[in-house]
Amino acid sequence: MIRRIRVYGIVQGVGFRPTVARHAQETQILGSVANKGPYVEIMAQGDEQQLKQFADLIKYASPPRSVILKMDIEDVEHLPYTSFDIIESKHTKGEIYIPPDLAICDDCARELYDPNNRRYLHPFINCTNCGPRLTILEGLPYDRERTSMKEFPMCEQCASEYHDPASRRYDAQPVCCNSCGPHVYILDTDCTDREAIVAARQALASGRIVAIKGIGGFHLACDAFNEQAVTRLRSLKHRPAKPFAVMARDLATAQKIVKVSENAEKVLTGHQKPICLLEKNEDILAKSVAPDNPMLGVMLPYAPLQLLLFKYDDEMTTPSVLVMTSANDSGVPITHNDEEARHDLKQLSDVILSHNRKIRVRCDDSVMSFYHDQPYMIRRSRGYAPLPYILKNDFQGEVLAIGGELKNTFCIGKGKLFYPSSYIGDLSQLASVEVLKNTISLMAELLETKPSVVACDRHPQYNSRLFAESLGRRTIYVQHHYAHIVSCMAENDYDQPVIGVSFDGTGYGDDGTIWGGELMICDYHGYQRVGHIRPFYQIGGDLSAKEGWRNAISMIIENKYLSMDDIISLKLCDEKTLKIMKVMHEKKLNSVLSTSAGRLFDAVSAILGICRRSSFEGEASMALQYAALKGAARQVNIKTDPLQEDGYVLPIENLIAYIVNHRLNNENVNQLAYDFHQALAMMIVKTVLMISRETGISAAALSGGVFQNTLLLEMVKEQLEKNHINVLIHHLIPPNDGGICLGQAVVAMTKLNEERK
Ligand code: ZN
Ligand code: ZN
Ligand code: FE
Repeated sequence: MIRRIRVYGIVQGVGFRPTVARHAQETQILGSVANKGPYVEIMAQGDEQQLKQFADLIKYASPPRSVILKMDIEDVEHLPYTSFDIIESKHTKGEIYIPPDLAICDDCARELYDPNNRRYLHPFINCTNCGPRLTILEGLPYDRERTSMKEFPMCEQCASEYHDPASRRYDAQPVCCNSCGPHVYILDTDCTDREAIVAARQALASGRIVAIKGIGGFHLACDAFNEQAVTRLRSLKHRPAKPFAVMARDLATAQKIVKVSENAEKVLTGHQKPICLLEKNEDILAKSVAPDNPMLGVMLPYAPLQLLLFKYDDEMTTPSVLVMTSANDSGVPITHNDEEARHDLKQLSDVILSHNRKIRVRCDDSVMSFYHDQPYMIRRSRGYAPLPYILKNDFQGEVLAIGGELKNTFCIGKGKLFYPSSYIGDLSQLASVEVLKNTISLMAELLETKPSVVACDRHPQYNSRLFAESLGRRTIYVQHHYAHIVSCMAENDYDQPVIGVSFDGTGYGDDGTIWGGELMICDYHGYQRVGHIRPFYQIGGDLSAKEGWRNAISMIIENKYLSMDDIISLKLCDEKTLKIMKVMHEKKLNSVLSTSAGRLFDAVSAILGICRRSSFEGEASMALQYAALKGAARQVNIKTDPLQEDGYVLPIENLIAYIVNHRLNNENVNQLAYDFHQALAMMIVKTVLMISRETGISAAALSGGVFQNTLLLEMVKEQLEKNHINVLIHHLIPPNDGGICLGQAVVAMTKLNEERK
């Protein structure tokens, strides 16, 4: 009997084929194993029992860095085999796999500190199970000649390991050692190699700021215990309050500063090593690392060079926790070469530790939050991109989706495979558009696609749309919140109609107003908006996105239960400003109608005196959530039934009136923050249940940036499930705008395939 097994997932560049060959030997299976681009194909000949055993071994005893997403097994006719062979990669057109970067593995970390190993303290040690991948790729086929490692010919010993299937460096493109690998240096000095590492360590130990070239770009690092150093970094970076992520020396150190659950430990120590957002323990770090924030972003070293900063043989002690923040302004692409470092980082750092292995694709650190101890992605980039999503739909054709304006990522769809890119940044910055353009052409080349269809957001002023249109191909416009919902559906590989709850910051609505608190019936083919929160005026244009007090005032002016005096009593602004605001509201000057849930959170945060204006995106709404976590469930007297007007309208005016009146009664702010979450969740749940009764649809998808708020997520999900609704949520695709490229791509691909029929 001959069976064809196709294994999808992280199965290339991780030693999958030699492992399969060993399993074949063990179970006496004959046949072959070959890389086929997006999957590994195994031909297996044996009896039923052998074949079952073999398949189990593949599934349950796969190499440590591999991830099996799917196995397709099928009986096939084939000439009998007489041996089991590893077939060398023959490059077949259109079957391309781009591996994500892998954090240093335990074996390499051990060798790194073994004085008898020839890679002792080598800053670029790697193997089949670890090392850079995506970030060093420059072309196809994927071999050393087409990576940044081409400038470093392998020495004889490295070459023999590279060619030996029994070695743990078999077929690992970036393999190198102390004699043939890249070199580190302090930029624009004669200080290199050992001396450079010692100099950087010395700088960190003495409270200075060091720029460090990592896997996907430069970081700025300093001693996370040293208040002076951290404050200085804040003022240099013009970043007054946004939390910094830190890198801890090891797991034990991380456990001191944050609460690490069992699953968080797996992620923290795993091969992707994202920044994990975890609850702080005792606050032993400098106060200004993550001021007034119960959470802290923590990661462990993932590049050997980072390990060496914590531990080296120079008898110096360096800080066990370092601030490790990407070396660029917020939204701007991460700095990735010496020229940029010279230009951007000289003013921001005291020492620049660089190296001569080029970064071809920039890649920021991924940021992961947790929901019920399961990964809940905030930024999907290093370690995950560009791993594809595989849908069950029988799609054909190619699409490019440009993604969101903020937190931009793009997505290439190729048949049923969808490849969301690494994080690009904020496209209102022209530098980001340039990087987007370059990364798209590189990825399209690597995936051998030339999509004739481009999907983008509908917003007429977005650079993402202008860029899409400038490509001169067919453009498909996808409404922002619909894209959010489809991204959530696609991540769950669910293509039946759902009730989409898209609670978000800002998105361009079909009627030209701002949307962001939407309920829509969706499938991959289209959507219908069936509900939304009561529209209000956002006064002050772009400012109203940062200054929650503006929306608060507008919501109070519009509220029939409240008066102008309330605005003054709440100290939202002074009398003079209020007069101006009133005129602006009356005449609709610089004002736009909005259903944005994000702005509602900002407004309530301002009313409660928690955060009047945000110094970074999401500050006010995050602070509101953290306050609510200190409150408790209780009966509140708020009318939460949706009104049937033009579709269902969520009566947030009741909510605002309640919050204002109780705040003016000096009730506990944290409790009111909780009440707000609870009542808003009730409004969502009631509306979804009404839509469900009306349409018979019993599945809901929760997406949009507001669902980064896991308290709201929990309240909505739990109540819906109690009422027998199947609730889809995000896992590894962010609920924020970093995820919408996948939704856009799936919508465009569906349209393309509809037209074919
Ligand atoms: Zn390794
Ligand atoms: Zn070597
Ligand atoms: Fe959005």
